[in-house]
Amino acid sequence: MVSACPSCGELAGRGYPECRYCAELLDQFWLADWEVLRSMEQLADRELAELVIGADVGKYPWTCVDWAMTLLACSRCGAELGTGPVECVRCAVTEERRWSWDHSAHPYTMNGNEHMLRVARAAMRAPHRRRSTVVQTWRLLLPFLVAGHVVEPHHLDRIRAHVLAGGYPALAECHDLAELAGLPELFWRRGDPISTRVEYQPDSERQQHAARDLFQRKADARAAEPGADAVQNADDDQVPGRVH
Ligand SMILES: [Zn+2]
Ligand SMILES: [Zn+2]
Repeated sequence: MVSACPSCGELAGRGYPECRYCAELLDQFWLADWEVLRSMEQLADRELAELVIGADVGKYPWTCVDWAMTLLACSRCGAELGTGPVECVRCAVTEERRWSWDHSAHPYTMNGNEHMLRVARAAMRAPHRRRSTVVQTWRLLLPFLVAGHVVEPHHLDRIRAHVLAGGYPALAECHDLAELAGLPELFWRRGDPISTRVEYQPDSERQQHAARDLFQRKADARAAEPGADAVQNADDDQVPGRVH
């Protein structure tokens, strides 16, 4: 169980980055490393950030690379570095580059929780650079990641499938990761176009319950069906090697 944020009322962390309390809760992991580095290097924030961004990947901790990006504005688009419009080449290159740490560090010097926290934070800071299903899934999971949990890849796929089916409001009611991770698997006919999956937008509690029932029925009905195929939305952000 994780608790609600006293400021925004969402599960703590889910209001990132707009809610200050949620932002502090998540960013404290990064800031702690940054402050250690700053006192070692004896530099001001901006100077240190430029030094870190200009260095080879792996020279400074990944937390410090992320924090340096947060402190700097992109010289091309003016947004926080790495979070500008998708067309911005400098943002794209910087964003791409930082993940090389995860490729080489995981699972030796970076654990699964750290990797997921990193990907989730990046998604929350630049949601327009990712698919909304990906962003919503990380938003759902953020409170549990902050609490130190790791989500298994097959659970992540399953949660994302429910989000894709319009289940976010119902899923956001879960205060327990085991409950989220224990969702029934959704099955669709192979070849169903994506557009048929996204039509459901529950907007009331009754509809949310109906949605859960619908998911359950769909899962039951399709589970035994030959040729049925689990939704695979594997993209980008779940394991090193597919993090962009
Ligand atoms: Zn909050
Ligand atoms: Zn930019």
